[in-house]
Amino acid sequence: MTDGDENGGEIQRASDVGSADAPSIEEKPYKIIFEANKCFGAGKCAEVSDNWEMSLASGIAKPNTYFIDEADLDHNVRAAEVCPAKKDEGCIHVIDRRTDEEIAPDPHGDGTLSVDW
Ligand code: SF4
Repeated sequence: MTDGDENGGEIQRASDVGSADAPSIEEKPYKIIFEANKCFGAGKCAEVSDNWEMSLASGIAKPNTYFIDEADLDHNVRAAEVCPAKKDEGCIHVIDRRTDEEIAPDPHGDGTLSVDW
Protein backbone atom coordinates (compact mmCIF):
# COMPACT_ATOMS: atom_id res chain seq x y z
CA MET A 1 0.00 0.00 0.00
CA THR A 2 1.43 3.34 -0.94
CA ASP A 3 -0.88 6.28 -1.12
CA GLY A 4 -4.34 4.75 -1.02
CA ASP A 5 -6.07 8.06 -1.24
CA GLU A 6 -4.59 9.53 -4.39
CA ASN A 7 -8.04 10.39 -5.74
CA GLY A 8 -8.85 12.34 -2.64
CA GLY A 9 -11.22 9.56 -1.61
CA GLU A 10 -13.30 9.98 -4.76
CA ILE A 11 -13.28 7.39 -7.49
CA GLN A 12 -15.45 8.58 -10.31
CA ARG A 13 -14.64 6.60 -13.40
CA ALA A 14 -15.06 2.87 -13.81
CA SER A 15 -11.62 2.61 -15.37
CA ASP A 16 -10.08 3.80 -12.12
CA VAL A 17 -11.10 0.56 -10.48
CA GLY A 18 -9.27 -2.73 -10.48
CA SER A 19 -6.86 -2.39 -13.37
CA ALA A 20 -3.89 -4.21 -11.84
CA ASP A 21 -3.33 -7.56 -13.57
CA ALA A 22 -6.22 -6.86 -15.91
CA PRO A 23 -6.40 -8.75 -19.21
CA SER A 24 -6.46 -6.61 -22.34
CA ILE A 25 -9.65 -4.82 -23.31
CA GLU A 26 -9.62 -6.66 -26.66
CA GLU A 27 -9.57 -9.97 -24.86
CA LYS A 28 -12.09 -9.11 -22.12
CA PRO A 29 -14.09 -6.00 -23.04
CA TYR A 30 -16.22 -6.03 -19.90
CA LYS A 31 -15.53 -5.96 -16.23
CA ILE A 32 -17.41 -6.38 -13.01
CA ILE A 33 -17.33 -3.91 -10.18
CA PHE A 34 -18.80 -5.56 -7.11
CA GLU A 35 -19.90 -3.55 -4.08
CA ALA A 36 -19.38 -6.44 -1.71
CA ASN A 37 -20.19 -4.28 1.31
CA LYS A 38 -23.72 -3.79 -0.07
CA CYS A 39 -24.40 -7.48 -0.74
CA PHE A 40 -26.73 -9.05 1.80
CA GLY A 41 -26.50 -12.59 0.52
CA ALA A 42 -29.85 -12.90 -1.26
CA GLY A 43 -28.25 -15.31 -3.71
CA LYS A 44 -30.19 -14.24 -6.80
CA CYS A 45 -27.02 -13.61 -8.77
CA ALA A 46 -25.89 -17.21 -8.28
CA GLU A 47 -29.27 -18.44 -9.55
CA VAL A 48 -28.88 -16.72 -12.89
CA SER A 49 -25.13 -16.66 -13.52
CA ASP A 50 -22.39 -19.26 -13.33
CA ASN A 51 -19.96 -16.47 -12.58
CA TRP A 52 -21.49 -15.90 -9.15
CA GLU A 53 -21.25 -18.12 -6.13
CA MET A 54 -22.23 -17.75 -2.52
CA SER A 55 -19.30 -17.90 -0.15
CA LEU A 56 -20.09 -20.07 2.84
CA ALA A 57 -17.38 -18.33 4.81
CA SER A 58 -18.58 -14.77 4.30
CA GLY A 59 -22.27 -15.38 3.51
CA ILE A 60 -22.10 -13.01 0.56
CA ALA A 61 -21.63 -13.45 -3.16
CA LYS A 62 -18.33 -13.69 -4.99
CA PRO A 63 -17.59 -13.55 -8.71
CA ASN A 64 -15.27 -16.19 -10.19
CA THR A 65 -13.87 -13.60 -12.53
CA TYR A 66 -14.04 -9.82 -12.79
CA PHE A 67 -13.15 -9.63 -16.49
CA ILE A 68 -15.47 -11.11 -19.09
CA ASP A 69 -16.01 -11.35 -22.83
CA GLU A 70 -19.15 -11.43 -25.00
CA ALA A 71 -19.75 -15.09 -24.27
CA ASP A 72 -20.24 -14.38 -20.57
CA LEU A 73 -21.86 -10.99 -20.86
CA ASP A 74 -25.55 -11.89 -20.81
CA HIS A 75 -25.65 -13.91 -17.61
CA ASN A 76 -23.56 -11.33 -15.75
CA VAL A 77 -25.94 -8.61 -16.95
CA ARG A 78 -28.82 -10.71 -15.64
CA ALA A 79 -27.04 -11.05 -12.29
CA ALA A 80 -26.62 -7.27 -12.15
CA GLU A 81 -30.29 -6.75 -12.99
CA VAL A 82 -31.75 -9.22 -10.52
CA CYS A 83 -29.59 -8.19 -7.57
CA PRO A 84 -31.97 -6.66 -5.00
CA ALA A 85 -29.29 -4.88 -2.96
CA LYS A 86 -29.37 -1.11 -2.56
CA LYS A 87 -33.17 -0.96 -2.73
CA ASP A 88 -33.15 -2.88 -6.00
CA GLU A 89 -30.51 -0.78 -7.73
CA GLY A 90 -28.08 -3.65 -7.31
CA CYS A 91 -24.51 -4.01 -6.12
CA ILE A 92 -23.14 -5.85 -9.17
CA HIS A 93 -22.02 -3.50 -11.92
CA VAL A 94 -21.13 -4.56 -15.46
CA ILE A 95 -18.87 -2.06 -17.19
CA ASP A 96 -17.99 -1.77 -20.88
CA ARG A 97 -14.26 -1.06 -20.66
CA ARG A 98 -14.16 0.46 -24.15
CA THR A 99 -16.56 3.26 -23.29
CA ASP A 100 -16.16 3.23 -19.51
CA GLU A 101 -19.94 3.02 -19.18
CA GLU A 102 -22.07 0.95 -16.87
CA ILE A 103 -24.26 -1.25 -19.02
CA ALA A 104 -26.05 -2.95 -16.10
CA PRO A 105 -27.86 -2.28 -13.89
CA ASP A 106 -27.49 1.37 -14.97
CA PRO A 107 -30.22 2.75 -12.68
CA HIS A 108 -29.44 6.29 -13.86
CA GLY A 109 -30.05 5.30 -17.48
CA ASP A 110 -27.01 7.17 -18.73
CA GLY A 111 -24.10 4.78 -18.31
CA THR A 112 -22.69 6.49 -15.26
CA LEU A 113 -21.26 4.30 -12.58
CA SER A 114 -23.87 3.66 -9.88
CA VAL A 115 -21.42 2.70 -7.16
CA ASP A 116 -21.78 4.33 -3.75
CA TRP A 117 -18.18 4.88 -2.75
S1 SF4 B 1 -28.01 -10.93 -5.77
FE1 SF4 B 1 -26.88 -9.16 -4.97
S2 SF4 B 1 -27.33 -9.09 -2.77
FE2 SF4 B 1 -27.85 -11.11 -3.53
S3 SF4 B 1 -26.05 -12.37 -3.18
FE3 SF4 B 1 -25.93 -11.62 -5.28
S4 SF4 B 1 -24.75 -9.73 -5.13
FE4 SF4 B 1 -25.42 -10.24 -3.07
